[in-house]
Amino acid sequence: MTGSKQHDFPYRRVCVFGAARSGVGAMALLRHHGIEVVLVDEKPAMEFRSLIRRLRRQFVTSHFGKFDESVLDHCDALVVSPGIPLEHWLNQTAVNRHIPIISEVELAFYFAGSPICAITGTNGKTTTTTLVGQMLTDAGKNAVVSGNIGRAFSDGVLASQDDSRDTVLVTEVSSFQLEIIESFHPHVGAILNLSRAHEDRYPDMRDYVDAKYKLFLNMEEDDHIVLNADDPFCVKAAEETDATPWWFSMKKKVSQGAYVEKDHIFLVEDGQKIPVCAVADVPLPGSHNIENTLAALVMGRRMGAPVDSLVRTLGKFKGVEHRIEYVGKSKTGVSYYNDSKATNIDSLEKALMSFQKPVVLVAGGRQRNASFDRLNGLVRDKVKRLVVIGESAPLIIKSWGTLVETVQAKDMEEAVKLASANTGDGDIVLLSPACASWDMFKDYEERGRTFKRHVRDVLDAR
Ligand code: ADP
Repeated sequence: MTGSKQHDFPYRRVCVFGAARSGVGAMALLRHHGIEVVLVDEKPAMEFRSLIRRLRRQFVTSHFGKFDESVLDHCDALVVSPGIPLEHWLNQTAVNRHIPIISEVELAFYFAGSPICAITGTNGKTTTTTLVGQMLTDAGKNAVVSGNIGRAFSDGVLASQDDSRDTVLVTEVSSFQLEIIESFHPHVGAILNLSRAHEDRYPDMRDYVDAKYKLFLNMEEDDHIVLNADDPFCVKAAEETDATPWWFSMKKKVSQGAYVEKDHIFLVEDGQKIPVCAVADVPLPGSHNIENTLAALVMGRRMGAPVDSLVRTLGKFKGVEHRIEYVGKSKTGVSYYNDSKATNIDSLEKALMSFQKPVVLVAGGRQRNASFDRLNGLVRDKVKRLVVIGESAPLIIKSWGTLVETVQAKDMEEAVKLASANTGDGDIVLLSPACASWDMFKDYEERGRTFKRHVRDVLDAR
């Protein structure tokens, strides 16, 4: 277990590179501990107006826009935000000047005074992290959810700093955040799955897997690593870790952990088989969410939550916004779902497989290299009508236009109207774009909110 370690922090003046969520979180945590901070970002100062006022109040030196290597003068460490590649000239300068480079997660860990439950994997991180946080909260703990999830880990650590409650830091970690870990040490960790991703940053899959495996770099025998027994990279991880492996599986019984047998979820602990609930009692759609549920159950148990409390949480957990999120049902019996987070083909595949009923699909946006043809069979089977939007519309029409009735919409409002027309009892209208959002929206959140707004207009009008 982790203890309070702030007295170990060896640096007195730290340069923080990147003034977005992670960098600002790191800055605040460092200032809380009286450490001098130089905050730098290549974006111009005009983008940081309100932050600059805060920096003045907190006595932080800052450089925005153009700066040179003198920002590192008198600094004894450089904290880099996860979005910045290690090849950046400032990082290279730090290396040449023998200034240690620390990731924001590593920095926050120095000051973490509570046990850490850390979740990584290619898919399902946010859903599982949110569910674990809810499970632990419902079990009476002070669960602080942060990391790669809208709140920096530094911010979570700072919030829990002087809190005497039974705190658990529930932390989502990405491969970027793990890359340069040295001492980060969760008490309970999970690797949900590993598949090809972030090819721009990791041309070699091995480098991506190695970054993920850093999760357990410092974990020991009395720590617990929760792994997917159906994923070969997770099975391999068990051979490389000192932590005690706990398994989850959709396909087979596990020696300890959680699994599905005849549509029921079971835990196995100390050789005992403990019934949890029926798969159908989990309101989240899709078998991928049952995998996330199994992982969360094992983590919840490892952190001491009672089984009945875990079951109660599962029964009421609504999932996370923009991930096959239920929006509402029309008077004519049509259900609407927002899956705006589906920014690639794999996510659309998961979404389509989650529904047994006919789907009117709204898809399209900025295309990422994958080919739409891979889902031809699934689209033919599941989609009753297709509404395409965005830059990728011609490509989608080329792949699926001959398989299902297809119409093109100029914007989201028209897409929702076209999707709602000629629908009937039991139909599903699903936004699951399989593409990035940046051709039409700021981000996938804005896309999802816009979809929901127009859906509500349709529901109100009927
Ligand atoms: P992450 O934080 O890893 O991006 P999310 O929980 O936000 O994951 O889910 C994003 C999308 O990933 C979902 O909409 C779904 O399409 C897919 N997904 C979620 N969980 C899993 C899983 N266990 N296995 C495969 N795909 C998943």
